[in-house]
Amino acid sequence: MDFALNEQERQFRDSIRRYARQRLLPEYAQWDRGTPYPRERVRELGALGISGLSVPAAYGGSESSFVMAGVASEELGRGDLNTTLFLQLAMVGGVIAGHGTEEVKRAWLPGLASGDHIIAAAITEPGVGSDAAALVTSARRDGDHYVIRGEKASISCAGMADACVLFARTGEAGAHGVSAIMVPLDLPGVTRTVYRSVGERISQRGSLTFDDVRVPVDHLLGREGGGFYQVMNAFDFNRALIALGCLGAAEQSLEETIEYAKQRHTFGRPIAKHEAVSFQIAEYLTMVEAGRLLAYQCLARRDQGESHTKEAAMAKWLGPKVAVEAIHACIILHGFLGYDQSLPFEQRMRDVMGLEIGDGTPHIMKGIIARETFGREFMPYR
Ligand SMILES: Cc1cc2nc3c(=O)[nH]c(=O)nc-3n(C[C@H](O)[C@H](O)[C@H](O)COP(=O)(O)OP(=O)(O)OC[C@H]3O[C@@H](n4cnc5c(N)ncnc54)[C@H](O)[C@@H]3O)c2cc1C
Repeated sequence: MDFALNEQERQFRDSIRRYARQRLLPEYAQWDRGTPYPRERVRELGALGISGLSVPAAYGGSESSFVMAGVASEELGRGDLNTTLFLQLAMVGGVIAGHGTEEVKRAWLPGLASGDHIIAAAITEPGVGSDAAALVTSARRDGDHYVIRGEKASISCAGMADACVLFARTGEAGAHGVSAIMVPLDLPGVTRTVYRSVGERISQRGSLTFDDVRVPVDHLLGREGGGFYQVMNAFDFNRALIALGCLGAAEQSLEETIEYAKQRHTFGRPIAKHEAVSFQIAEYLTMVEAGRLLAYQCLARRDQGESHTKEAAMAKWLGPKVAVEAIHACIILHGFLGYDQSLPFEQRMRDVMGLEIGDGTPHIMKGIIARETFGREFMPYR
């Protein structure tokens, strides 16, 4: 499968690589120490054309290829993995464009493309994560409104999002009874709590509570009961973006470690001359490259309208796993310095670990790969 970048895509990649190196990398540690990430920084992603990648031109975006979004994720990941989150959330623009009413599109898409709006994805609940089709947050119809009641847990950007795409039960038990609804988060009855996370602190991950929140019926995305089959499944490709962000962080770590290994001496020679060191780097370079190619293959299939669910799950399992292992190796290869917070490795490892869980754990990814391979009749559950 061919996913070589054309001239325009190469220029786009180079501009984001420069931004990541000059703007993100030097301040990566700062946001880990509790300084709130300025909204101005999110708008910079809009100015770079990153936030509008899935938004149609009529609403201020560029509606570019999914491979382009992959390029953006990988390059941002080199500077600050956490900023890839704003890219992932902005990709909801495609869902809104495809399934929203004209009013919802006009209200949210231009701001999404410019980086003015942050729209969270609210699926997980305190009692329901992997088995998302069992969610219990309800959206009860009352005239021309839905009345929403329930709690969403572990939502990225819960502390700062302007709206969320909320998955709530509007009907029967199981996936067919779940709908996706656009919910502005300044409505009466919404409360937010921000968690103390191990990493990814700029994301203000937390919970959103809905206490009889009234949302107009025209905020429904897709058809009632289509939350999973129309909306969530169309977001599979996001797993490849996550993988590429994590692998970008690993690539950067390996490059820094290669430079270190050339100049750090032990036993009278640079540590790069110890094959245990250079071979370990060779192994991780190979695994990172394999993860990249898998993720880009997923995105290229998406661009070409081909099935990509299996590739997305493979990329999401492999990418963060390889990235954590590679960054861990970089820590050891830096000796005591690697274990110091003046170098970015431990922060990167904590940040990548979150993405081993977010958007589906390794177990769930392997379950999807097995389902797509053997067929649903060989699943242990429905
Ligand atoms: C950094 C981060 C960001 C996140 N962002 C968001 C967000 O923006 N929006 C959102 O809605 N959610 C978000 N989440 C939540 C995330 O999607 C869930 O945590 C994840 O889906 C797992 O659900 P759970 O935590 O309830 O674990 P559970 O589903 O309770 O699973 C617990 C453990 O059991 C394993 N397990 C469960 N079922 C099976 C099975 N069938 N076979 C084998 N093993 C199984 C799991 O793999 C896991 O190890 C985020 C989480 C993190 C860590």
